[in-house]
Amino acid sequence: MTAQDSIQYVKGVGPRLAEKLLARGIRTPQDALYFFPKGYQDRRRTVPIRELSAGMTVPVRGKVLSVQGGGRLFRGPRLLEVVIGDGTGRVVAKWFRFHPSLVERFRVGEPVTLCGTVRLFRFLPEMHHPEILSTEEAADPIHSGRIVPVYPDVEGIPPRIVRKIQWEVVRNHADKEAECFPPWVLEKAGVPPLHESLVAIHFPRDDADAASFREFSSPQQKRLVFGELFSLQWALAKRRAGMDRESATPLPWDPEIVGEIKRRLPFDLTGAQRRVVNEILKDLKQPHPMHRLLQGDVGSGKTIVAWIAAMVAWRHGVQAAVMAPTEILAEQHYRRFASLAKGLPARVDLLSAALPPKEREAARERIRNGETDIAVGTHALIQESVEFRDLALGVIDEQHRFGVLQRAALRGKAKTSPHLLVMTATPIPRTLAIALYGDLDVSVIDEMPKGRIPVRTRVVTETGRRKVFEEMRRELDQGGRAYVVLPLVEESEKIALRDAVRTAERIREAFPDIPVGLLHGRMKAEEKESGMRRFKEGELRVLVSTTVVEVGVDVPEATIIVIEHAERFGLSQLHQLRGRVGRGLRPSSCYLMVGNEQGEDAAARLSIMERTTDGFRIAEEDLKIRGPGDFAGVRQSGIPDLVFADLVRDAGMLQVAKEVAGELHGKDPDLKEPAHEGIRRFLARRAATALD
Ligand code: ADP
Ligand code: MG
Repeated sequence: MTAQDSIQYVKGVGPRLAEKLLARGIRTPQDALYFFPKGYQDRRRTVPIRELSAGMTVPVRGKVLSVQGGGRLFRGPRLLEVVIGDGTGRVVAKWFRFHPSLVERFRVGEPVTLCGTVRLFRFLPEMHHPEILSTEEAADPIHSGRIVPVYPDVEGIPPRIVRKIQWEVVRNHADKEAECFPPWVLEKAGVPPLHESLVAIHFPRDDADAASFREFSSPQQKRLVFGELFSLQWALAKRRAGMDRESATPLPWDPEIVGEIKRRLPFDLTGAQRRVVNEILKDLKQPHPMHRLLQGDVGSGKTIVAWIAAMVAWRHGVQAAVMAPTEILAEQHYRRFASLAKGLPARVDLLSAALPPKEREAARERIRNGETDIAVGTHALIQESVEFRDLALGVIDEQHRFGVLQRAALRGKAKTSPHLLVMTATPIPRTLAIALYGDLDVSVIDEMPKGRIPVRTRVVTETGRRKVFEEMRRELDQGGRAYVVLPLVEESEKIALRDAVRTAERIREAFPDIPVGLLHGRMKAEEKESGMRRFKEGELRVLVSTTVVEVGVDVPEATIIVIEHAERFGLSQLHQLRGRVGRGLRPSSCYLMVGNEQGEDAAARLSIMERTTDGFRIAEEDLKIRGPGDFAGVRQSGIPDLVFADLVRDAGMLQVAKEVAGELHGKDPDLKEPAHEGIRRFLARRAATALD
């Protein structure tokens, strides 16, 4: 029998069980090999009842002392209670749902072995729905005296039978699973070969560390983690190599260009900005397109870096495009770029849907005929009707707001591949960046411009609200401006709106002399933008908003931000919101309001915000708490759902997988060597199942 035959021929299966297994997706022994335990029970030793404590999952052996509740005297028995004693104590086994025949398995005075998780009820140990092992089973090395696998439920097959089937499958078929990685790879990853892993994952050896199996961190389990991460990194390595083969217009710089740009800088660059600029200039020289991700906290000064890159393009007589997610950000970039370029014969143009049709058409025409040197805009830039004469550099700001397709669309506007700089203010933990952006080079601005005063942050419960308002009053009296932010409750926009309206009223009452604006999700884009603009210009002094307002908008006069229901935000999101203040010369503060009820828990989770303003540390913490799915950009990135790997737990393995993928790709990009045949098969199989 081979691993690809029907599972029905495995000892003890037959057509009836085969059907039930098929319903679980298990058609062959090979499928069964990859049907893994969801947990493990350490049954290497039965434990005297006296030693039981809550939470242990162990076997106990004893005599049945009493059986209650299952008797025929009762109508519709609800609860079966069986008391077991072993001379050191008693434990009560309880079943809340059971087949009447269960009662028959117990006879007072007979020995029995039970295995389950211990709970304490009135200080006495209990087990709910424990597994019952017959004398025979209690002596069977499949179910007893070992670390026992616990499989996900297969409908219609009792757990013990599933385990028995798996035992047969593993015994007869595991060693036929050929290892796909050459020895040097396994060695580098520090994992055993596949067949050894499969055997151990189903039935760990007696000397194994049960806890490490439960945490999915045994070397044997890591073998699977590695395989999964490797295939992810291989795809990225391929993509990356594909880009390296493309050619692009090289944009070398010379001292003259650099001198001219330097003279126009309104401030000295920070060390981090200078380093990043150098990285970018080096890329631009190459005849291959740059693919660089620029990460830097809100306010770290990414715009000027983009401007420098655009100026280099301009000096070479080719076009640059800068794309931002909203009108107001595009406009802000446009103004900054235009003012920085003032006096130079460089033409900066704005292209957005908000322009009157005539102006829009005129801008499009200039972009087409090459009059425009730097085109700044929104999605409008990648519309079909837009054509560039010779686009050589694309910059995407707040890239997490754009999908892969939009990135591709911008690239598509150029005749030869353009250099691409994508910028994000969402600090992404390093591990996640490797997983997501393995195909990009990453630059980080990890230093704030001089003179920035860190935003003072406090978590405040409802009781402290008065103090917060007093502080707001003081700031407003000194000419400051304030943001009040409410979470956008997507499921119930209505409630969010009502909340926002009520908050705005409350603030108007508290500060009758201050013009207060309200922005919410129901408003049209233009209304939102105009509200934001009035706040920026000082016509409004307090802005109450659901989180619709773009974080990149620069209002240096804003010195206080109050975030309502802060517990509903992720840490990274809070950090982004906080970045709206602290952009000017005056010290700023951020108040994270939490309800009195959520007080303690929320305060504990949010307290890191009080301790650090380092976006990367906050992101790491967020990743630990919420996992990767919530990170901006993760969903759009097309990263497959990982089955075995956990990007937090397996950060080290991710790095190894990246290195191995890079090295292999360098040596044998098409996996033509005989030694890499297995890897090719492995990747092909994964690709096939991914398509499913
Ligand atoms: P972000 O990285 O969030 O896009 P910006 O580029 O908008 O940040 O910069 C935030 C503010 O800091 C802007 O007002 C900008 O002019 C200013 N800035 C940037 N770099 C420096 C610097 N090296 N020194 C002083 N101010 C700077
Ligand atoms: Mg910005």
